[in-house]
Amino acid sequence: MVRKEMKMEFTSQSENEGFARVAVGAFIAGLNPTVDELADVKTAVSEAVTNAIIHGYDQKEGRIFITARVEEDQVEISVIDTGRGIADIEKAREPLYTTRPELERSGMGFTFMEAFMDEVWVASRVGEGTRVTMRKRIGKA
Ligand code: ATP
Ligand code: MG
Repeated sequence: MVRKEMKMEFTSQSENEGFARVAVGAFIAGLNPTVDELADVKTAVSEAVTNAIIHGYDQKEGRIFITARVEEDQVEISVIDTGRGIADIEKAREPLYTTRPELERSGMGFTFMEAFMDEVWVASRVGEGTRVTMRKRIGKA
């Protein structure tokens, strides 16, 4: 079976969120996603990258890693930071839960990732970092 993979690393400036969206979008182009599917994947990646920038690294300098692979009609993407980590993952995933209301965050990032992707896994350790892995089958319709 043909398995296509990519791995990228970039610094945590907020403008790199746009770069990550476009790069992942280009990577999955071969699956011939619909406009909606492409938008879903890009939005999910944006949410995870924004979280790494804002929460993981507290808007300070850090490195973000994305790995992605395509296997048959499925894409799996991991967004990884080595920032502060999440103490209570279950709570963090609840809709409207945010630790940064003063930054006008609405606490909907994980909820969007779950809505737009088929499966989302979060692994995190306080002081070590966070890995969000998301999977979606393309062309279900
Ligand atoms: P929004 O995404 O709507 O702007 P938000 O980022 O606070 O708001 P979520 O994306 O759902 O909401 O994240 C919920 C909470 O999980 C965050 O407030 C933060 O405390 C924690 N969190 C999420 N990602 C990370 C991360 N990479 N590192 C550390 N904490 C994180
Ligand atoms: Mg968020």
